[in-house]
Amino acid sequence: MQVETLILGAGAAGLMCAAQAGAGTLVIDHARNPGEKIRISGGGRCNFTNYEVEPARFLSENPHFCKSALARYTQWDFIELVSRHGIAWHEKTLGQLFCDGKSTQIVAMLLREIEAAGADLWLSTALRELSHDGSRFTARLEREGREQQVTARNVVLATGGRSIPKMGATGLAYDLAAQFGLEMTETRPALVPFTFPEGRFSALSGLSLPVRAAAGRGSFDEAMLFTHRGLSGPAILQVSSYWREGEEIAIDLLPGQDIAAALKAARAESGRRALTTALGQMLPPKLVAHLAESLPLGGNLADLSDARIAELAAALQGWVLRPQGTEGWRTAEVTLGGVSTAGLSSKTMMARDVPGLYVIGEAVDVTGWLGGYNFQWAWSSGVAAGDAIARDT
Ligand SMILES: Cc1cc2nc3c(=O)[nH]c(=O)nc-3n(C[C@H](O)[C@H](O)[C@H](O)COP(=O)(O)OP(=O)(O)OC[C@H]3O[C@@H](n4cnc5c(N)ncnc54)[C@H](O)[C@@H]3O)c2cc1C
Repeated sequence: MQVETLILGAGAAGLMCAAQAGAGTLVIDHARNPGEKIRISGGGRCNFTNYEVEPARFLSENPHFCKSALARYTQWDFIELVSRHGIAWHEKTLGQLFCDGKSTQIVAMLLREIEAAGADLWLSTALRELSHDGSRFTARLEREGREQQVTARNVVLATGGRSIPKMGATGLAYDLAAQFGLEMTETRPALVPFTFPEGRFSALSGLSLPVRAAAGRGSFDEAMLFTHRGLSGPAILQVSSYWREGEEIAIDLLPGQDIAAALKAARAESGRRALTTALGQMLPPKLVAHLAESLPLGGNLADLSDARIAELAAALQGWVLRPQGTEGWRTAEVTLGGVSTAGLSSKTMMARDVPGLYVIGEAVDVTGWLGGYNFQWAWSSGVAAGDAIARDT
């Protein structure tokens, strides 16, 4: 069988690309259903983009690479598509846009788009081998137990990253990119909870509070959640993308607040009150009890000198912790790193040295912040490749 374009992976990027590339396109996926990560995303409501998409909110060895695709297919384009399909949506927080209903509406929308464009979709189909003779690719596929050979002028690698192998994530895009001589950057689990030695936070498990979390060059004002295994919540997931093994993270437990001034005022008003009681009005009492195990929080407010108040404020606004590790690929929302952008065109996503080979979505070394940024990259890079293919055809 001959096709114009073979897309490997029926996830967010692959489906979007197929909708643009149009007739003569075949999308294959080894899973039984398309867009499984879309289905489970955003707690089942898919945080499909963000009002505040901008290149600075993406990590990559080349921070400029994402600019072109994001500028040519924007959040407003995707919002228009969603609205055209009659899908109701709302802003939850920080510009994050979610479906009012289920995330499967987004999958259904993409399937309607690829059907209208005249592209085909084969599920439960595995790639056994891919070769290139200089002008056409030949793919040996296994579909429902039967072998099938497909030749294509273009091949699009859209099989995503390594996160959540249980959902069918594989390193296929990376293996094929390497086969065709493309470079890779280191891949790491990102948007992932931190783990700490057994029992460190178990007494606080389930407790959540707004913080400013910082690691490396990343700093985020969002919620932090204590878990049995360590720390999670949006602020922690965000900084995990900037953290490296062995490094410390810093937590401001009372962001934007002048704790020293508040404690001095409390001391003047009721000096006989216990310091832990006063802190318990600013922070969850359970957390204050936990902090008292390592900070000198005994005594009354009247016992506190200005110098001790300053020390205490610094400790609460720069609580330094050293994570043991992360929960890894099992729960990471995305893969940091991937196919190096050095070998790809930022306009078309085509490999510079292998005409007809494209890489899109999470497989590329472009990783967004939490909050709809990763889907926007999937849509934008998928459209960049799909448009280039449609123009060429
Ligand atoms: C739990 C969770 C929640 C998330 N929530 C959000 C969110 O709300 N907003 C957001 O922006 N991002 C979210 N993300 C990230 C987002 O899902 C991904 O960044 C996005 O799906 C990447 O799109 P993609 O098309 O590159 O890869 P995917 O969507 O992962 O698609 C890859 C496809 O390739 C297929 N495939 C893989 N290996 C093979 C193989 N060997 N052979 C054939 N097919 C293969 C897979 O079955 C899959 O269908 C979430 C991720 C997770 C894990």
